[in-house]
Amino acid sequence: MNASRAVVALASAQNRPEHQPHADGCHHTQAAGNQRSTEEIVKGNQSEAEAARDGAEPEKPAHPRIQISPGSINAHEPDRTGQDAGRTLAGRNCTERGPAGAARREALVAAVLAHAERGWHVFPLRADDKRPAFPDHAEARCAGRDPRCRRAGRHVSWEERATTDPARIRAAWTSAPYGIGIATGPSGLLVIDLDQPKPDPAGAIALPPAEWAEPGILDGGDVFALLCQRAGHPAPWDTYATRTGSGGTHLYFTAPTGPEAPELRCTAGHLAWLIDTRAHGGYVVAAPSTVAGRAYVAEDDTAEPAPLPGWLTEALTPRPLPVQAPTPIHLRAGAGDRAGAYLEAAVNRAAEAVRASGHGQHNRALYGAAVQLGQLVAGGALPAGQVYAALMPAATAVGQSEAEATRTIASGLRAGAKRPRTLPIESSTGVAA
Ligand SMILES: [Zn+2]
Repeated sequence: MNASRAVVALASAQNRPEHQPHADGCHHTQAAGNQRSTEEIVKGNQSEAEAARDGAEPEKPAHPRIQISPGSINAHEPDRTGQDAGRTLAGRNCTERGPAGAARREALVAAVLAHAERGWHVFPLRADDKRPAFPDHAEARCAGRDPRCRRAGRHVSWEERATTDPARIRAAWTSAPYGIGIATGPSGLLVIDLDQPKPDPAGAIALPPAEWAEPGILDGGDVFALLCQRAGHPAPWDTYATRTGSGGTHLYFTAPTGPEAPELRCTAGHLAWLIDTRAHGGYVVAAPSTVAGRAYVAEDDTAEPAPLPGWLTEALTPRPLPVQAPTPIHLRAGAGDRAGAYLEAAVNRAAEAVRASGHGQHNRALYGAAVQLGQLVAGGALPAGQVYAALMPAATAVGQSEAEATRTIASGLRAGAKRPRTLPIESSTGVAA
């Protein structure tokens, strides 16, 4: 293994700094020996967001492993996050005493506040776990018992609860040793997650797919270095980064902004093998959280996230619109309701593409379908309501939450609106086409 590492060090000599966790071989041993971590169990092939959305979480929040005295719950100011936290803890008669616990909490609060000062929107994760602490239920099981959901009269997601408000942060993280989630979308971040290969059920380390099967390509960091090399760009290691509890690396970048900037969403394996990304709809576990007893560590607390390189932005922009056909859709005039039939077929085809999408591809398929139909909406051929009516059932059928599907469809419609398509005839239903 060490020999092959040396090969890759030469092969992908993308000035990967020494302090990169991949430069020390120990975590490969760790991955090989593989304690199967919470991460793997929770995440599987899903993004964390998907896991949360799909209801992978149990009904009740996990016990915080470090417990605090009930007295300290009453000490902090009442705010919504704090109330949530206090309710949970009070019910569990928690006790953590002594100056060590207090010092740990202070350090934790300071770390969370530092993240928030950067404009990163944070929310509590279950202690020593990567799942959100609140809400403690999936949207499909929202019964309005959660205080935030009850007040809002609807389900309130972790993304909506993420905050930069110091008072709310203090209240939450002094009440329990929650982990720290950063909602990447509201924070304007795109995080590249360079993973370790997961062992198969027999415990064997996964072999790279042919595209990445080169000597010394062992983990997501290696793949990323090679990806950058093949793309002819320097690997952007010089940015805020954390080493994850399972030996991977999170590279933080600022997402592109501006009216023309694409809304980047989470991807899994889209850039390359063992490389996921987190943006809108996703989150990362931030330093100094622990998951399954293993810490997430910032490589350099003072580093700033670099802007996401343009070529990566391009690679991550959701399904580029198909090259615009120079010719409009031709339907013979006077052929009865050919326009209506065409539209119906287009809508059904789009919905079917969503239903037929593979695991981990649902959001991409839904977005693509919404873009295509959005072009017809923008051309006046189709009411936007019909797009929602057709695609929402397909999206929920494959396990997407209504909130997520609504956002994705809206995003697809916006993208489609940039390239209107029109039908050259009028449909007999009177819809301008
Ligand atoms: Zn709810």
